[in-house]
Amino acid sequence: MFHFLRGFRRKRFLREGLSEESHAWLDYLPVLHDLPPGDRKRLEGMTRVFLEEKHFEGCGGLEMRDKIKVVIAAQACLLVLNLHHDFYHRVRTILVYPTTFKHGTTWRRPDGVVERRESANLGEAWPGGPVVLAWDSAYQGGRNADDGQNTVFHEFAHKLDMLDGITDGIPPLSDDIKNDGWREEFFAAYEKYLSDLKHGRPRLLDPYAATEPAEFFATATECFFELSVQLQQREPQLYSLLERFYRQDPAGHAGHYGTS
Ligand SMILES: [Zn+2]
Repeated sequence: MFHFLRGFRRKRFLREGLSEESHAWLDYLPVLHDLPPGDRKRLEGMTRVFLEEKHFEGCGGLEMRDKIKVVIAAQACLLVLNLHHDFYHRVRTILVYPTTFKHGTTWRRPDGVVERRESANLGEAWPGGPVVLAWDSAYQGGRNADDGQNTVFHEFAHKLDMLDGITDGIPPLSDDIKNDGWREEFFAAYEKYLSDLKHGRPRLLDPYAATEPAEFFATATECFFELSVQLQQREPQLYSLLERFYRQDPAGHAGHYGTS
């Protein structure tokens, strides 16, 4: 019954799309300007569903506003625009700090001593838990659509990766790409990236991509949507991998529709 009601509500929200005010916030995101009109309309409906179903919480003194919710939701939905998906069903809450936030990790060493380390973060994706974002980074990432840096894309790419319960850089794959060597090609692309980095060859992806395959997938996702033409020209195999996974071709319609 619950699924029936949820499906019914979703259909309504997809049809209605965003309010006029919320709709205006989308113009803040140049990455959406190149979307074909039909895709843009569908994305607006999906953004509405996301806004209705997720809980946004301001942290560290941030007062939650519609602009914050829309800017984050629209970017998160762009990733799943053409995927068979359930609106990141394991993400119920998005926590938003005004800026860089501190995260502490505590662990016990083999000798029994408990250590704690704090790091300053722009974003986090917790397995089975919330996405945490720094608003200034989420906003600037959306505003600068051609620097290959986008915290919202990065963290929600992690959430796609985590859908099968393992954070290994390989999100659940549809049957058609599961059987065409996608996984093997992905790890080959990661190894090539490590080799390029080691030998000082020019690279498009931020060096953070080298940390582990999961970071490679998340960082490559940022470039796929923000530097699509450059990625296609310089790393055609990596572009093709992401094009097949996301079922989108952002380089194919770059500059065709929008104002930027
Ligand atoms: Zn990451």
